[in-house]
Amino acid sequence: MSEGATMTTQPVVETRNLIKVYGDMVGVRALDGITLSIPRGQFVAIIGPSGAGKSTLLHMLGALDRPSQGEVCIDGQSLGHVRDLDRFRSRTIGFIFQMHNLIPTLTALENIEVPMAESPLPARRKRERARELLKLVGLEARGGHLPNMMSGGERQRVAIARSLANEPAILLADEPTGNLDSKTTDEIMSLLARLNHEQGMTLIVVTHNPQVAGVAERVLTLRDGKIESDIAFSSPYEKDLIDLKHSQLGRAILAGSADLPTELDGAVEPLRQLLLQV
Ligand code: ADP
Repeated sequence: MSEGATMTTQPVVETRNLIKVYGDMVGVRALDGITLSIPRGQFVAIIGPSGAGKSTLLHMLGALDRPSQGEVCIDGQSLGHVRDLDRFRSRTIGFIFQMHNLIPTLTALENIEVPMAESPLPARRKRERARELLKLVGLEARGGHLPNMMSGGERQRVAIARSLANEPAILLADEPTGNLDSKTTDEIMSLLARLNHEQGMTLIVVTHNPQVAGVAERVLTLRDGKIESDIAFSSPYEKDLIDLKHSQLGRAILAGSADLPTELDGAVEPLRQLLLQV
């Protein structure tokens, strides 16, 4: 959570005793009583083994499907009372999928404008907004490129820009780096972390990838449709500090080793104090 972002008392996502059964009542209980509250501006990773219910939960939060029982509130609105879910979804929720789903015949700018089709903004303003978003994801020079002229990471950046087009209250991502190599995964996760820190964007990311979950400030583990654990890190740095503490360098700092990189001169003692606290 950045200092600049607004933190209201009302959570932006709330679920109460969410149950989803596929098929009849003896069918698969994909979600089995999920009660959850996510404050505005939080970056949450949802992890858990295959079949745990992660995608099902994301579908419920994204108003892509209705629960069998229980309630979902997004941005103060109970989804059970929303008549036109499509409209609500396109105005309130941004999605990023593993497959970027860009339209191959449209340029990067045109793809970003797609979700704004129903917006009353004039065409000129839509184009301006698309340009701003492209700049935000670091691709201002690629506006006229078709998807097949861009790398996998660039295409995913365009998809992220597109997901922000209607200024959503929350951003949901399902394995957003599933198709990308480790370096590109880092780049995309840094971009998402920046959107969270600088824009106060609420991010909920389903992932198998520890590298991705490692960036989040809260990690929710699902198993058999239930929340198995829910761990929040009190500061965005806490997890990095814990990782550092368990690394070779961290152990050397704590042990007071004389064999530390010279660049760390002066920083060693403050770091040692921080490592002692986590
Ligand atoms: P995860 O994303 O953690 O892998 P899912 O949410 O996809 O888990 O699935 C949870 C359970 O619900 C699994 O047992 C899965 O087989 C079942 N399931 C998911 N979608 C459907 C569906 N459309 N119809 C029937 N069963 C489904």
